[in-house]
Amino acid sequence: MRLILLGPPGAGKGTQANWLAERYKIAQLSTGDMLREAVAKQTAIGLKARDIMARGELVPDDLVIGIIADRIQQPDAKNGFILDGFPRTVAQADALEKLLESLGMNLDAVVALIVDEAILVRRIETRASEMQAKGQAVRTDDNPETLRSRIAAYRALTEPLIDYYRRKGSLRTVDGMEPIGQVSAAIGRQLAAAKAESAKKRPTYGAPKIVKKTSRKAVPRRAGLRKAKKASKPARKAKRKPLKAKKKSKGRKAAARRKK
Ligand code: ADP
Repeated sequence: MRLILLGPPGAGKGTQANWLAERYKIAQLSTGDMLREAVAKQTAIGLKARDIMARGELVPDDLVIGIIADRIQQPDAKNGFILDGFPRTVAQADALEKLLESLGMNLDAVVALIVDEAILVRRIETRASEMQAKGQAVRTDDNPETLRSRIAAYRALTEPLIDYYRRKGSLRTVDGMEPIGQVSAAIGRQLAAAKAESAKKRPTYGAPKIVKKTSRKAVPRRAGLRKAKKASKPARKAKRKPLKAKKKSKGRKAAARRKK
């Protein structure tokens, strides 16, 4: 199973991606987590990304595309993966499509979490204070000012992906305002529906039989019947005429004989 989880900051992508990874035994690939790790380890990527992330802007496309290209080919992603926070721009989505194509992989679904943006700030403030209470480090970008930039970046660069994937026919939407468990259940239902749909489209050994059966029954046979009916009317008329003519002629002949 290969999925993309779309949604604005604070929509609950991380929480749901976590659950999905467990449920389907697939790798959770969060570009945000990977970049934060790179920043913490002060790798070359981390040093490039640190200030950009702190401002709430997006790090350059080539950087994240490189990370993902490497990551999806790791052994833990063999069974599938869930992309959380990637793609975030149309350029990233195009690059992902080419990458998957070159690896002979396909996407099973793109799930978009639909949330009321007015509550995002509140959610992120709650997340920051919960982490603080637990004695954990609060994300440097989890503050009201940076959050505004993150939401603006989402609207301008990431939200267009909803239409992008809708046009491709792979988009599934889920109401992200419900309680966590209900959102998870809704995602599960959407994935089951996506699986059933792709099984219908994909030709398997069993499929051609069904296609043949339906096509023979539903299309050609009925069409054939209609044709046969149409053809039979004039055929009956043609048969009837000579019959009548025969009768008449018989009648006339008999009358002539009777006259004689
Ligand atoms: P959020 O909770 O806002 O969705 P993430 O944890 O996914 O945040 O990402 C945090 C930050 O990491 C982003 O604001 C951005 O700077 C950077 N980032 C993560 N993923 C990407 C990406 N695919 N492209 C560009 N920047 C990214």
